[in-house]
Amino acid sequence: MNYRHAYHAGNFADVVKHIILTRILEYMKLKDAAFRVIDTHAGIGLYDLMGPEAAKTIEWKSGIFRLMEAVDNNELDAETTALIAPFINAVKAENTTSDIRYYPGSPLLTRHLLRKQDRLSALELHPNDVKTLAKLFDGDYQVRVTHLDGWLAMGAHLPPKEKRGVVLVDPPFEIGGEFDRLVSNLAKAHKKFSGGTYALWYPVKDHREVKKFHQALYDTGIQKIMVAELSIRAPSLEPRLDGTGMIIVNPPYVLEKELKLILPMLVKLLCEDKGAGYRLNWIRKEGDGA
Ligand code: SAM
Repeated sequence: MNYRHAYHAGNFADVVKHIILTRILEYMKLKDAAFRVIDTHAGIGLYDLMGPEAAKTIEWKSGIFRLMEAVDNNELDAETTALIAPFINAVKAENTTSDIRYYPGSPLLTRHLLRKQDRLSALELHPNDVKTLAKLFDGDYQVRVTHLDGWLAMGAHLPPKEKRGVVLVDPPFEIGGEFDRLVSNLAKAHKKFSGGTYALWYPVKDHREVKKFHQALYDTGIQKIMVAELSIRAPSLEPRLDGTGMIIVNPPYVLEKELKLILPMLVKLLCEDKGAGYRLNWIRKEGDGA
């Protein structure tokens, strides 16, 4: 397990992924009934952008830093500003000065949005990272941190007793087979908890792999699968993280409309060249074949 998210925290992919996550959670909160978030690959929860890892790559400069600058300079329209406010507020809450030094990862971001009745189960397999994460939430009765293979949790922890839930699956893609694991574990999880909302992250590096992945998702027969991708540059000749992708199963019905506003704004802010863009479409809609 060599992957360390601290090198990438707050980069463009994190920003897109985390804004989508916050929009899903905001929707869940429209009903009083409790929900559970299961974060299968949780990381350490809080990242120091001035730390040695982030300082090596400074990926955050073309991600959260650019977005914060735009927000502070009132460059965004009112509607988009309101949609990203839950994300922005959580990031600001982790910082005491207007300069952003600390970046909340998915479990901490989620924690900011939970109400009293909601719960978070965060899984992390790295022995040191899970300790760091457990310390962050020490004494917090709404959060359970578990040292476990997140793929196993997609079977063992479902359905949640709340019967409402969001499953975030954000694997490191450091070893082969992650696309296949996403598909097979989604199929397994969906059998146990078909009403859950699933958010599956993937890198846009190899377009042929992504196409195969989408086809495999279609072939599961699962309905209501939406895809949101954002690329910051035209496809590179050598494999490189050109874009970020998120599969959302059972998305909130408002999410497509929201992302039609959010994604173009993010493309404009985060793009590196004219090949930047986004896609937002359905792999399978409700009632589509199957
Ligand atoms: N979700 C986090 C966020 O958005 O802040 C970032 C997660 S990072 C991309 C992937 C994490 O998964 C790493 O912390 C890595 O140690 C952990 N990991 C790798 N394999 C795992 C597994 N099988 N089960 C649980 N965690 C795993």
